[in-house]
Amino acid sequence: MDCLFCKIANGTIPGEIVFQDDDVIAFRDIGPHAPQHCLIIPRKHISTINDFDDPVLFGKLGMAARTLAKQLGVDESGYRLVMNCNEDGGQSVFHVHMHFLAGRPLAWPPG
Ligand code: AMP
Repeated sequence: MDCLFCKIANGTIPGEIVFQDDDVIAFRDIGPHAPQHCLIIPRKHISTINDFDDPVLFGKLGMAARTLAKQLGVDESGYRLVMNCNEDGGQSVFHVHMHFLAGRPLAWPPG
């Protein structure tokens, strides 16, 4: 399958990996919008949130974010998790991913 994030997950394309386990991998976003901007993805290819049918795996993305926050030392200062879905949601890569943003105060609401 010609999927950018599958290729990062399987090592075909380099990524700056910050967390990984059997099901989930996280790497730094190539165009960061915050001092800490990582993408947390399932290793398994799932195109959008609409295609997710595994609540345990969905939960593992959140648990990875929690681990990453501690690892990066932003668990107390705070962070934001964002998942974009399809065109209006602003999704540009069609392998489900959770944005992890931290390291500065983040405005609300997003644009
Ligand atoms: P989204 O617009 O929610 O689909 O987010 C896709 C994200 O993937 C964007 O923030 C991009 O900067 C990021 N991105 C695209 N290509 C790469 C890459 N090769 N390595 C890391 N992040 C990437």
